[in-house]
Amino acid sequence: MTAVPDIAGIVDRVRAGQQSGMLHGLDARRDQLKALRRMLVERDDELAAALGVDLGKPPIEAYTAEIVFTINEIDHALEHIEAWSRPEKVALPLAVRPGAGRIRPEPLGTACIIAPWNYPVQLLLAPAVPALAAGNAVVLKPSEVAPAVAELLERLIGEYLDPQVVGVVTGAVDETTELLAQRFDHIFYTGNGTVGRIVMKAAAEHLTPVTLELGGKSPAIVAADANIDVTARRIVWSKFLNAGQTCVAPDYVLVEQSAEQPLVAAMARTVTDFYGSDPAASSDYARIINERHHDRLTGLLDGGGYAETAVGGEQDRDSRYLAPTILTGVKPDAPVMAEEIFGPILPVLAVASVDEAIDFVNERDRPLALYAFGDDKATLGRIVEHTSSGGAVLNHAIMHLAVHELPFGGVGASGMGAYHGKAGFDVFQSPQADS
Ligand code: NAD
Repeated sequence: MTAVPDIAGIVDRVRAGQQSGMLHGLDARRDQLKALRRMLVERDDELAAALGVDLGKPPIEAYTAEIVFTINEIDHALEHIEAWSRPEKVALPLAVRPGAGRIRPEPLGTACIIAPWNYPVQLLLAPAVPALAAGNAVVLKPSEVAPAVAELLERLIGEYLDPQVVGVVTGAVDETTELLAQRFDHIFYTGNGTVGRIVMKAAAEHLTPVTLELGGKSPAIVAADANIDVTARRIVWSKFLNAGQTCVAPDYVLVEQSAEQPLVAAMARTVTDFYGSDPAASSDYARIINERHHDRLTGLLDGGGYAETAVGGEQDRDSRYLAPTILTGVKPDAPVMAEEIFGPILPVLAVASVDEAIDFVNERDRPLALYAFGDDKATLGRIVEHTSSGGAVLNHAIMHLAVHELPFGGVGASGMGAYHGKAGFDVFQSPQADS
């Protein structure tokens, strides 16, 4: 854990490195990105093992959703860094001719990146990629809630990246509070909205811009004409990945009445198909991060407000296991519908029509993601047009995250700002107007 009195020094060190021009040229930025890539490739086993310790994360998920995901982000940045950094010429009006005008992407300076525990590698490093590509120094703050990953990343980053431009601060509330008291040129925070508000207040002291990547209840709307087997597989996969501890996991399902029974039956079959008859014994199924969250989730189940546990419900606090669980006959005011679940519990609510589902979504905070399943393009289009979310996906879930060209972020209560690919580069640069 970083000693609180050392934190200001870490920030000062990387700011001085950045200001002395250490990331001035593209080659210097490329060097840091390549070093980060090397770290991920050479130490993948250690990273996967640490993810296993903290989250029981299956190796396939550690590689695809954390390590390779971040490598892809690096490769995309390396491929495009030159084009993204190139000044853009603008046409000048007659009154200021002859002359020349251009927009030059300028680094903001020093960025602070604060990550949560659920994808503790990806969510710390993926925002660092565009920050470095745009020429910023970074101070990285891993989540203390995933301690094995935090300790390992602190060590590896110190080994692979230049400490004059990349710093790491580890710790919990005291350390993060001290970190946020420092002056930054951008703060990029991923986590819950309560802390998001704390981050924004601290940023206001220095007039520092923020990106807030928050969460929320992302709905999956299933129309009666959806391909039920495919829909079931996609919802089950995206929901129970990382034991439901995914910011863009479908939080709950709104299904047209006539499709409810077939969908629940198909999801039940799929759970067995994916994780066997005893998911506790499956090497493909993760664990809840800690006892506190395990208690929170079992508390939601104990809170009632639903008719039946159609799938799962088994739990074991000692091993932080909670089975993939599907609830039916869920009332809109059930405890499980009051907050983001962030765990392997899927409430299913039947609705009379897609329009009722649209109204249901619009009566609540705007979600980070929205998924719509159905066969009729006009219906799917209506869902997207009449709702607001950070990102909408038709007939699939989560996949938008993997597309570099799609900015990823929330809206309203689910966040502000977006990243991935060029959108990430733009977060960390200021369009400097030269003429
Ligand atoms: P967390 O508890 O790990 O907290 C996130 C970070 O905030 C940590 O680094 C922690 O040290 C810091 N923090 C905690 N309390 C603080 C305080 N009082 N002052 C300053 N800093 C503090 O993670 P979490 O918040 O439980 O993460 C889960 C939430 O994050 C969910 O709501 C989820 O939807 C959301 N999330 C969003 C995204 C996204 O990309 N939009 C991705 C993952 C998770």
